Amino acid sequence: MLKAARRVGLVFFPAYDWAISPTHPEREERLLYTQDQVWEEGVLDIEGITEYRPRLADIKDVERVHICVPDVRSRAGESDLIAAGGALVAADAVLQGEVDRAFAIVRPPGHHAQRIVYGNRGFCNINIEAIMIEYIRQRYGPKRIAIVDTDCHHGDGTQDIYWHDKDTLYISIHQDGRTLYPGTGFLPEFGGPNACGYTLNLPLPPQTGEEGFLYALENLILPVLNDFRPDLIINSAGQDNHYTDPITNMRFSARGYARLTELLQPHIAVLEGGYSIEGALPYVNLGIILALAGLDYTYVREPDYTPAKVSQPQEITDYIAHLCRETYAAWQQREEIRAQTTRGKKEITRQRRVYYDTEGLLEIQKETTLVCEECAGLTWIDSRCSERGEHILAVFIPRDACPRCRQEGEKLFRQADRRSYTRVYLQDRPRDILVRE
Ligand SMILES: [Zn+2]
Ligand SMILES: [Zn+2]
Ligand SMILES: [Zn+2]
Repeated sequence: MLKAARRVGLVFFPAYDWAISPTHPEREERLLYTQDQVWEEGVLDIEGITEYRPRLADIKDVERVHICVPDVRSRAGESDLIAAGGALVAADAVLQGEVDRAFAIVRPPGHHAQRIVYGNRGFCNINIEAIMIEYIRQRYGPKRIAIVDTDCHHGDGTQDIYWHDKDTLYISIHQDGRTLYPGTGFLPEFGGPNACGYTLNLPLPPQTGEEGFLYALENLILPVLNDFRPDLIINSAGQDNHYTDPITNMRFSARGYARLTELLQPHIAVLEGGYSIEGALPYVNLGIILALAGLDYTYVREPDYTPAKVSQPQEITDYIAHLCRETYAAWQQREEIRAQTTRGKKEITRQRRVYYDTEGLLEIQKETTLVCEECAGLTWIDSRCSERGEHILAVFIPRDACPRCRQEGEKLFRQADRRSYTRVYLQDRPRDILVRE
């Protein structure tokens, strides 16, 4: 019998009864074909590979990460809670030492869901990885965590959630936002005033092939991880860079994904996008499982694969090399960049417009963060969504809050003028509570 070099836990949740619409690319068949493939290949018969059943995440798990307006129940359905719960099961399996690696093959995805949630963005309601990471910290203590987002779309939700957190390094490689939803993810998006450099974005040009992805991994992602020294590496494993994906323009293959996984060695991978339901997902997911288990994946091959489908022009090769150099240099200079952007400032404000493409909602945000040498800094967001008739104030006391940031936060929450807001929220992370008025 075949034996895995590393023990791997798999969580499957196809969400049979949930789809945005019957023909929407984000529908249950995404995982059903993978499930067939995994069964057919006898993956679950390999010694060391264990299947786990998902469970529902608690409302509290979601409230630790999001301000859902008006509340979690109105914005997250059972499928979302099971997708998040599947990731929690994967995390427990790894953190309790039952397995060495885990892969949560769940849907709906999550990486476009931001801190504040009025509805669905890019097929996501709640952020699966962030809910998992904050659960891990709550249950297993403080951890330095790196999230490597290899989905073809920029994970703008994960970026938003960890914008102020230097204990969570967020690195995203994705198709250039000038050519794809959600239109963000450039080098100047580099983290907030107290976490400068801990968000890194590498926008890859359309038609990036096998070589480009692996180059970025070896020349940017791995060196940065080596500097950051995380306790855990999480992979937001989006499979939509595949050359057959219908909604993107990249040229990556199943074996390429497996090689990437082998080099990255994530402790936990969580499925994100991937919409080539028959042509890519079963092969990519199989490749990732084998790579996680330390098994041979070289026979994993799409039926229509040819080397020409994954090749890239020389100018793309040169461009990516340049981009990686520039991004790595910025990472190395993060302290200087922080000093420049915060010099003489007590607080930093950003204005944002967040578009909810699935539901056609527009959110207008003003976010303010205290510049703080002691902690991630108190943050508060004034947010309006006219279509929903909401105008909220959300106050965030960070996990590692210093006494000043805590006091300021409590004061702000107490003194906020209830008449000018439809609701006022206080997310108090050290006490692990959400107060809503
Ligand atoms: Zn990404
Ligand atoms: Zn995607
Ligand atoms: Zn502080």
